[in-house]
Amino acid sequence: MHIFVEIGPLKAYLKHQLTSHFSIGLVPTMGALHNGHLSLIQTSKKENHITVCSIYVNPIQFNNAADLEKYPRTLEQDIRVLQDAGCDALFCPGNSEMYREATRLKFDFGSLDKVLEGEFRPGHFSGVALVVAKFFNIVQPDRAYFGQKDFQQFKVISTLVEELKFDIQLICAPIIREHDGLAMSSRNVRLNTDERTRAVVLSQSLRESRDRLLKGESFSAIKKFVMDKCIQSNVRLEYIALADRENFSLLDNVREPGRGIILIAAYVGEIRLIDNLFLTEN
Ligand code: AMP
Repeated sequence: MHIFVEIGPLKAYLKHQLTSHFSIGLVPTMGALHNGHLSLIQTSKKENHITVCSIYVNPIQFNNAADLEKYPRTLEQDIRVLQDAGCDALFCPGNSEMYREATRLKFDFGSLDKVLEGEFRPGHFSGVALVVAKFFNIVQPDRAYFGQKDFQQFKVISTLVEELKFDIQLICAPIIREHDGLAMSSRNVRLNTDERTRAVVLSQSLRESRDRLLKGESFSAIKKFVMDKCIQSNVRLEYIALADRENFSLLDNVREPGRGIILIAAYVGEIRLIDNLFLTEN
């Protein structure tokens, strides 16, 4: 695997691939890789000649200094994992390579970045969009791979691609879960044993909410049920919401199950976790 920390050599390598009519798949990550990330790498490898993974903990998308400082960084192990997975190139720049000076560029995604993650993490999506736009310009991939785990982020990036006319196909891959249902996340390693056990309440709440909604129960009753469930598990619920998965408008009841998504964010101890579930798989 080729490893690049600077943009110039990465571009030179990719330019050479392009002249050979190769297709390029990009998997942007913040590292501390787990099987969720690996599923994206594997899908990209199936669909492209060359797979590039980026590992970069993007400071401007963090709205909490402690979260940024404590974000797990395991580059040596990640390199081994990517090598074993057959990834072709890794781009792991430092901050000075990505931001020569403090950036003032901001994105506004309208109602999409005012709710849920956008509401609770002000500036987060603008920071994500900026770094992803940089990666798209640097790598110029044919396809880019993201997880449903961050579905609102996927919608933000879809809007970015549409608005800026990036000629890139976006792929949203299913959420990979632990055996008990907990969505895999780099932040899970920060949970202690007790917190790890309690964290299962997020995915359980989503599944029970989905089942109850599909049986016709009102979402307000379901919300109350989830709030109680989180209190019992000593988990601090930030939101549980039903939304239209196309436009992220928040809903009180299900009109079109095929467009519904339930989303949850909660603190387990100090660790903020998110998860979501489509009302119906289609
Ligand atoms: P991150 O390193 O957390 O920024 O995630 C990088 C990419 O991996 C994003 O597109 C995430 O949505 C995706 N991802 C994270 N966790 C999972 C998971 N459990 N299953 C599938 N994709 C995931």
